[in-house]
Amino acid sequence: MSVLNLLEFQERFSTVRACEERLFQLRWPDGFVCPKCGSKEYCEVACSSRKDAEERLPLFQCKVCSKQTSVTAGTIFHKTKTDLRKWFLTVYLAANDKRGVAATTIARNLGVSYPTAWNMLRKVRKAMADRNAMYQLEGIVQIDDAYFGGESHGEGKRGRGSDQAPVVVAVQMERGKPKYITMALVPNLTKEAVAPVLSERLKPNCIWETDGSKTLVACAKELQQASHIVTKSSAPCLRLDYLSSLSAS
Ligand SMILES: [Zn+2]
Repeated sequence: MSVLNLLEFQERFSTVRACEERLFQLRWPDGFVCPKCGSKEYCEVACSSRKDAEERLPLFQCKVCSKQTSVTAGTIFHKTKTDLRKWFLTVYLAANDKRGVAATTIARNLGVSYPTAWNMLRKVRKAMADRNAMYQLEGIVQIDDAYFGGESHGEGKRGRGSDQAPVVVAVQMERGKPKYITMALVPNLTKEAVAPVLSERLKPNCIWETDGSKTLVACAKELQQASHIVTKSSAPCLRLDYLSSLSAS
């Protein structure tokens, strides 16, 4: 969706029906599948009790288990009272404003209350984060454990201060360039805290590139990591100033 500019986006999703049809495509690219029993046999049930029934997709009733499913059931849009077009715009704005769109901006521009805007943004961001969490990096992955949020220091490993947030950063490289990045806040930079994050977000057959920090070496051992290249210093693309320019671009 993010390849469309705002005007194109609004034209494409100018009706609730258009939003629902897009949701249908995203959820069931190969046709409806019953979420309860997995059957693909269904019939459509017009929900005449809804006053906007004509603008909406019908309910889908499974021919095997009779469960009725709407296109929004089980999504962040389930049972919402807010117009789906406003939700779609919120997703668009959240995905396209790297600095983070404010709830006040959503409220003002979409004509919803501040609590509604805040709640929509929270759900949209959670869904986006969950989607990122589902994606596992593969191939050559540069990994660093670092402290985020403070000044960089010349001595020793940069910025290892006490008041900063410990993070694990991993970047999937392709032809020498960063392709995907994953970051996680951890309680501390110990093997116990870092290894589960790497195990969850990296495919097991990745090639690790690290600066050989004690924690990452311990993690490699813990996860029985087969390929681990240790470079003298962290790769330039993992420097935090690089990361901040990445998120600002
Ligand atoms: Zn079923």
